[in-house]
Amino acid sequence: MSTLRVVQWGLGAMGSGMARLVASKEGMQLVGGIDTRPEYVGRPLGEVLGIDADLGVDVTDDPASVLDPEKVDCVVIATTSWVKEQIGDLRTILEAGINCVSIAEEMASPEAQSPEIAEELDELAKKNGVSIIGTGVNPGLSMDTLVVALTAGCLEVTSIEATRVNDLSPYGPTVMRTQGVGLSEEEFRKGVEDGTVDGHIGFPESARMISDALGLGIDRIEQKREPIVSTVKRETEHITIEPGMVAGCKQTLLGYRGDEVVLTLVHPQQVLPELEGQGTGDYITIHGTPEVSMQINPEYAGGKATQAIAVNVVPRVVEASPGLKNMLDVPMTGALMGPSAYTRRV
Ligand code: NAD
Repeated sequence: MSTLRVVQWGLGAMGSGMARLVASKEGMQLVGGIDTRPEYVGRPLGEVLGIDADLGVDVTDDPASVLDPEKVDCVVIATTSWVKEQIGDLRTILEAGINCVSIAEEMASPEAQSPEIAEELDELAKKNGVSIIGTGVNPGLSMDTLVVALTAGCLEVTSIEATRVNDLSPYGPTVMRTQGVGLSEEEFRKGVEDGTVDGHIGFPESARMISDALGLGIDRIEQKREPIVSTVKRETEHITIEPGMVAGCKQTLLGYRGDEVVLTLVHPQQVLPELEGQGTGDYITIHGTPEVSMQINPEYAGGKATQAIAVNVVPRVVEASPGLKNMLDVPMTGALMGPSAYTRRV
């Protein structure tokens, strides 16, 4: 087994965890770290990550200085959610002739909202003989890949429902703002209208992945963002929510084939749901033959799962044929616990 050499681009909450995971894996070597934060640039990567090992490289804000295809097998990028914002950096990686894993939510299936960018990435990857994939806990695992996996034993599927109830309290100010936490109900609704409250990013991508994988034929989606108004006081390190204020955002997607709803995705995200007796979890129901029902309690831990899946998929993207891939195009991704996990029959 040859060691996979990985560069981590973006050393924030997710990227730093991914970099530490890469450094801990026997089959991988962390060979570079890129970030624009002035307080990181020029410092030893191991020190910035808070690990003992001397990795022999400093954090850089100059991607060209580390993107050498002779020395790097894969870049894992964790900088933003939107493909339009990330496309320049993705071009740089692919043009350097290096494989790429992105956790930008829209990269889970970029053809869902930006077909022209998806086509460009596919062509660029093929031209340079490498592959690129988007992943993460959601989209990428809990409300799409897991859903499709559960249908593998179905004779037929008539409709699907997936719900993910999670707790936002570990997250910082950016997430609080984009989820509308701490706003009045009126401010929340105004924020949804003017685009300052994003809610969950990734439903169109999950719907596209499921529809394409099963041939469900979804031809229209509808999304709704509703405020979750608290009836009790909720307090985290970052925010205090008084009764009557918004504690989170309940997002719903309906996927239609003609007039029929064949996919329902529901994602209520809020701070400290247990204060109102709400447990967290992932729930999937497949209607068809046979009926399938799955639940995971509490919810599949988002931060850890995102860091893990982005690293676990690295061997899959390195061995894949050139082009743009999604999580359902490559062999099933599992945890990398030993040499046999790194090479699969493809
Ligand atoms: P973060 O803000 O903590 O970290 C982002 C880091 O990237 C920062 O250190 C920033 O300085 C750096 N950065 C940004 N643009 C850069 C650029 N062009 N070049 C170099 N460095 C740059 O964010 P995070 O919590 O680590 O999350 C990263 C992104 O991943 C977010 O957009 C988040 O929504 C997304 N995400 C997706 C999933 C999923 O399930 N697909 C899960 C978690 C996070």
